[in-house]
Amino acid sequence: MRILITGGAGFLGSHLVDRFIAEGHDVIAVDNFITGSPDNIAHLMGNPRFSFIQLDVTNYIYVEGKLDGVLHFASPASPVDYLELPIPTLKVGSLGTHKTLGLAKAKGARYLLASTSEVYGDPLVHPQPETYWGNVNPVGPRGVYDEAKRFAEALVMAYHRYHGVDVRIVRIFNTYGPRMRPADGRVVSNFIVQALRGEPLTIYGDGSQTRSFTYVEDEVEGIYRLFMSDRVDPTNIGNPVEFTVAQLAQAVLEETGSASKLDRRPLPTDDPKVRQPDITVARRVLGWEPAIPLREGLRKTIPYFRRLVEENDAGARVLGNQG
Ligand code: NAD
Ligand code: UDP
Repeated sequence: MRILITGGAGFLGSHLVDRFIAEGHDVIAVDNFITGSPDNIAHLMGNPRFSFIQLDVTNYIYVEGKLDGVLHFASPASPVDYLELPIPTLKVGSLGTHKTLGLAKAKGARYLLASTSEVYGDPLVHPQPETYWGNVNPVGPRGVYDEAKRFAEALVMAYHRYHGVDVRIVRIFNTYGPRMRPADGRVVSNFIVQALRGEPLTIYGDGSQTRSFTYVEDEVEGIYRLFMSDRVDPTNIGNPVEFTVAQLAQAVLEETGSASKLDRRPLPTDDPKVRQPDITVARRVLGWEPAIPLREGLRKTIPYFRRLVEENDAGARVLGNQG
């Protein structure tokens, strides 16, 4: 197949590019590097089955030749990023989804939208099945991301119903692993980097809020299976094992062997109090469930951040000597 992946130079997108290439497909990655990095796809340059287009996908996308799949992963995804980039976030979720759906329709390609557990907002149903409609504050600071993704889901279903586009919607739950930016602001990357530097771990609120963390390899497996399946309705792909943020901090301290202290900070506005996927559908329809528990995923992720932190510190020392 010939597949186009937007956000292909981002954390998740670049792992997905690798997976499609490994399965023998040709992949075109599209990205404007607003939160991604050329480093994430550097290893693919020169591969005849890979090509890259630098483009803002809220603009018209022209691609020559056939396409069998369009996967729309472009969007700031860390709360820190989307709070800094509210309008680009709304645009890529709305205009970017429109443009990429138009491309899929023109090429007769299957379309997959990267949606999110954030469509459930601060959920009043726990754990969250796909049938839950959510509890989102449209005018709060997180609304720029949540509502963009909810609009994107509505647009995808409209293209399916009115234009017959073959669509998939994955609702992704907090995913972590190598290639996250050390400063992207999400909790797993923050805690690991802080622990490795011996800095205090920043716990927002009292740390009792929960998340369910998925290792990137498990997430990509679930997304790949969903893309290959014939399931049209939204599908949760996430690890259903739930942790408090305080428990995550403890696990990171133990796995890094760090003596960092904890630093309590104010809880961001509208921060969801709980989050846990109900993956009954993924288990039944895709035969998918995560295989990598949190501790193992942390052990796979820490060496990546350790290398970046060491390189950064060595760079700082060199600069310091020159200065
Ligand atoms: P990321 O920030 O690493 O990747 C997003 C990529 O999209 C970046 O490379 C960025 O440069 C690119 N991008 C953003 N706007 C663009 C535009 N207008 N045109 C072209 N490229 C653009 O984030 P990620 O964690 O890899 O997230 C990827 C997707 O998965 C996002 O759509 C996100 O909403 C979704 N998602 C991720 C998670 C998670 O836990 N990682 C959870 C839920 C949903
Ligand atoms: N969080 C935290 N310290 C940090 C970063 C995040 O305590 O340094 C908390 C945040 O308030 C939220 C949870 O960790 O309750 C997950 O945050 P993240 O930004 O990773 O993603 P979210 O699930 O909120 O989209």
